[in-house]
Amino acid sequence: MPNLWDPKRAPKDSFDQLVYASNLLGSDLRVTNFGGGNTSLKRTEIDPLTGEEADVLWVKGSGGDLGSAKASNFASLYLNKVLALEQKFASGTPEDDLVPLYSHCTFNLNPTPCSIDTPLHAFVPDPCVSHLHADAVIAIAASRDAENLTHEVWGGKLGFLPWKRPGFELGLMLRDLIRANPGLRGALMGSHGYICWAGDWHECYDLSLELIREAEAFLAGVHGQPFGAMLSAPPTEEAVRGAALQVLPEIRGKVAHVGQRWVAHVDAGPEVQEFLGSEKFERLAKLGTSCPDHFLRTKIRPLVLDAPPTDEVGDWLDKALSGFREEYAAYYERCKRSDSPPMRNPNPSVMLVRGLGMIAWAKSPSEARITASFYRNAIEVMKGAEAVSEYTALPEQEPSTSSIGSSRRPNCADCLPRKSLPGRSP
Ligand SMILES: [Zn+2]
Repeated sequence: MPNLWDPKRAPKDSFDQLVYASNLLGSDLRVTNFGGGNTSLKRTEIDPLTGEEADVLWVKGSGGDLGSAKASNFASLYLNKVLALEQKFASGTPEDDLVPLYSHCTFNLNPTPCSIDTPLHAFVPDPCVSHLHADAVIAIAASRDAENLTHEVWGGKLGFLPWKRPGFELGLMLRDLIRANPGLRGALMGSHGYICWAGDWHECYDLSLELIREAEAFLAGVHGQPFGAMLSAPPTEEAVRGAALQVLPEIRGKVAHVGQRWVAHVDAGPEVQEFLGSEKFERLAKLGTSCPDHFLRTKIRPLVLDAPPTDEVGDWLDKALSGFREEYAAYYERCKRSDSPPMRNPNPSVMLVRGLGMIAWAKSPSEARITASFYRNAIEVMKGAEAVSEYTALPEQEPSTSSIGSSRRPNCADCLPRKSLPGRSP
C-alpha cells in the first residue's frame, strides 16, 4: 500500500491538508470502503459574530466519499458546544435525540450536516483524527478474541473498544479509554474499524497507513486455509458464462420491486470462487456482516444458491426467493421498533451462486458495482478473521440501528427510528 503523501503537492494550511489527506485515504479501497470512514481537524477560527477566537471541529459531512470530498463537504461545529451535549446525555436524553442537536452547534452557518461519528472525533484531544474501515483491520475487529489480538498486533499503540453502534456513548467510551491510557495513538473498534489521531495531518495520514500495514503483516504471517478445505474446483469461464446466461434474465424480473427493475453486477473472480467453493462457505455466509457500513448495502445476509439446474430455472428461483423473503419479513418483525418505517424491498441485494459467482443488485450499474465491492470487503474480513481466530458477525439487531434516520440510505432503514431526522451516516 503506497504512501501517496507528496510534499510538493501537499498544502501548507491545516484545513487544506485535512482535505488533501482525506482524498488520499479515500482513494484506496484497502484503506476504507466507498463512502466509509471520516476525518476531522480541530483548530482555532475567528467567530464571525464576536470577532473572537473559537475552537472549531471540522469533520467530514454525512454521506459522500472521502476520496472525492471537497472543502464544502466538511461540517464545522463549535467544539465546546458538542462536548457540552454530554450534560444532556447524562441527564437522560437518549443519544438518538442528541443527533438533531448537532446542527445547533454549527459554526459560521455551515450548511453541511455532520456525520453520526462526530462525537468520536470531538472527544479525542488531538487535532487530527481519522476513522477508517480497512478490511485488514476489520478482520481483527471482527475476530472472536479481538481485544487480545489488538494487543498482539499493535502492542500499546491501539486500545480496544467493544462493539457499540456509532453515537454519543461511543464517543464517551473513547474519551474514557484515552484518559485511562494517555499514550494511545488510536483504538480498534470491535466489529467496526479503527480510529487514530496525531498532531498534524501528515502524521495522521502516515499513522493511518502504518496501522493497516501492521494488520496486513500479521494476517500474512498466518498460514493455512482460512476458509478450510476446497470442496469444489472453481468453475471455468465458460461454465460461469453459461450459468449467467441461464439465470440472469430470469432473476431480473423476479427481484423487481414495486415496479423498479434492478441492475445486476456479476463478480466471478477467484476470491469469490475460493469462498463459494470452500468448506466454511455455508456457515460464514449465514452469519452476516461485521462492519455496519457493509450491512447498509449488502443486507443482513446474502441469498445462497447451489449451482443452477440444467433445465428450467424459474421454479428453482421462485422457491429460493420466496424463502429469502419470508426470512427477511421475520427478521423485520423481530427487529422493528414502534417508529420504524415500513419494510423495504425484501429481495436479496447479494446472491452467491455456486458455479457462477456473486450477483449484486441495485438501482444502477454503479450502485450494483459498489454493493458487490462491499461484499468483497466482507469476504476479505471473514477470511482474515478466520485466519487468525473465528469470525463473529454483529448482533442481528445492531446493524439495523447503526445509521440513524438516514433517508439517503434506505438500505439501513428497515428498523430505524425516527424517519424525520436529518440524514446521518457512519
Ligand atoms: Zn465507521
